[in-house]
Amino acid sequence: MKQSFDFLVVGGGIAGVAVASELARHGSVLVLERERSLAYHTTGRSAAISMESYGNALIRELTCASREFFEKPPAELTTDALSSPRGALILGDEPNLDKLRARYGVVKQHVPSARWVERDEIAGMAPFMEQKWIAGIHEPSAFDLDVHAIHSAFLRGTRLRGGLVRTDAEIASAERQGGAWHVRLVDGATILAGTIVNAAGAWADVVAQRCGATTLGIKPLLRTVVVVDPERSVEHCPYIGTVDEQLFIKPDVGRLMVSPCDETPSDPCDALPEELGVAIAMDRLESATTLRPKRILNRWAGLRVFVPDRTPLVGADPEADGFIWCAALGGYGIQTAPAMARLCAALAIGDAIPADLPHIAAGDVAPGRVLGMASQQVTAVAELH
Ligand SMILES: Cc1cc2nc3c(=O)[nH]c(=O)nc-3n(C[C@H](O)[C@H](O)[C@H](O)COP(=O)(O)OP(=O)(O)OC[C@H]3O[C@@H](n4cnc5c(N)ncnc54)[C@H](O)[C@@H]3O)c2cc1C
Repeated sequence: MKQSFDFLVVGGGIAGVAVASELARHGSVLVLERERSLAYHTTGRSAAISMESYGNALIRELTCASREFFEKPPAELTTDALSSPRGALILGDEPNLDKLRARYGVVKQHVPSARWVERDEIAGMAPFMEQKWIAGIHEPSAFDLDVHAIHSAFLRGTRLRGGLVRTDAEIASAERQGGAWHVRLVDGATILAGTIVNAAGAWADVVAQRCGATTLGIKPLLRTVVVVDPERSVEHCPYIGTVDEQLFIKPDVGRLMVSPCDETPSDPCDALPEELGVAIAMDRLESATTLRPKRILNRWAGLRVFVPDRTPLVGADPEADGFIWCAALGGYGIQTAPAMARLCAALAIGDAIPADLPHIAAGDVAPGRVLGMASQQVTAVAELH
C-alpha cells in the first residue's frame, strides 16, 4: 500500500523544515530532500546575519516577527542559543553620501536603535577600514544566526510532532487525481499526499513543472564568498557592508568572510565560486580596508533565489489545486524563517494570517502575482547580503 501524508514538503533546507515543523501540528508530514544531507544548498551557505533594516517592508515585518524565536527559542525545540550579538555597520564614502543619508531616513523609521556614525566611531568599531568611509549607519540590534542550530531546531519540531524526513529522495513527478497527489520519486517509490509544499529553493520551478503546477520565473543569482585570515583580531567587529553594495565583510570565528555582493544569473545547480568573483572580492577588500591577507582559506558560492519584486512566493499555486509555494526567499530566508513558516502554514490550511504580521495580506505574497513579471529583471534594491 502507498504511504499517505496530509502534507508532502519538497526540500530539506530552512524553508522546508521550518514549514514542516508548523504543518506537523495540523496533520501528517513527510519532508523529501534529494541530497544525502539536509541544508546542503543555499541554507548551508549564508552569511548568517539578521538585520531588521534589510529588504522591503514585507521582509522587515517577517524579520521583526522572527526575532523572538531566535532570542528565546521554544525549550522543546532546542536548548542551544540560536543567535548572538553582532551589530551591523553600513558605510558610505563621499560619492555615496546621499545614498547613505536616504537609507538612514528609511532605517531610522523601522530600527529606532540605528545611529548615524562618523569617521572616529567607524575607526573605533573597525580600525582597519580605510579613511574614505566618512559616515555610516550603525545597527546595534543586528545579530548573528547559528544556522545549523536553527535548522536542527525546526527539524526537531517536525519530528517531535510526528513528521518524517527522508533524504536521498527526489520527487520526479506528481499528478492530482481524486483530490490527492500521486507522487513518484526518482527511485521509483510512490507516495500519496493531500498537499504538496514546494520549498525546493533554486529548483522550485523545476519541481512545479514536474507536478504540472505553474512555473513562476524563479531566478537564482550566484553570490561568491571568500574566507581569509585577517591576521589581526576582528571577532568583535560588526558585519560591515558598503551602501553601494560592492562589498560585505563579516567576522567568522577568527576568520573574515568577504563578498563582492555579486548577483550572477545561474541555473539551479551545486554553486561553485568563479575565479573572477574571488578576484573582485579580494580587490574590493584591499581598496576598502588596510587588510592585506596573505592566504585565502576558503571560497564558496551560493544561490540567492528571487522573483522580480524580491518578495517571497508563499501560498497557493495560481492553477494547481493542493500545491503550496514557499520559495524565492532571496537573501533573507534564515532571518525570516520562523515567521515565514507560520505564514505559509496558515495559508496552506486556510487559517487567518498570524496576528503578529498585521500588514501582510495573502495577495502580497501570492505566487500568482508574479505571472506578468516573468520577463522582468530582478529589481535592484537596497540590500546588503
Ligand atoms: C552568500 C549568501 C549569503 C546569505 N546570507 C544570508 C543571511 O545573512 N541571512 C539570511 O537570512 N539569509 C541569507 N541568505 C539567504 C538564505 O541562505 C536563503 O534564503 C535560504 O537558505 C533559502 O532556503 P531554502 O530552503 O529556500 O533553499 P535551499 O536551502 O536551497 O533548500 C532547497 C532544497 O530543496 C532540495 N530539492 C530541490 N529539488 C528537489 C526535488 N526534486 N526533490 C527533493 N528535494 C529537492 C534541494 O536539494 C535543497 O536542499 C544568504 C544566501 C547566500 C547564497
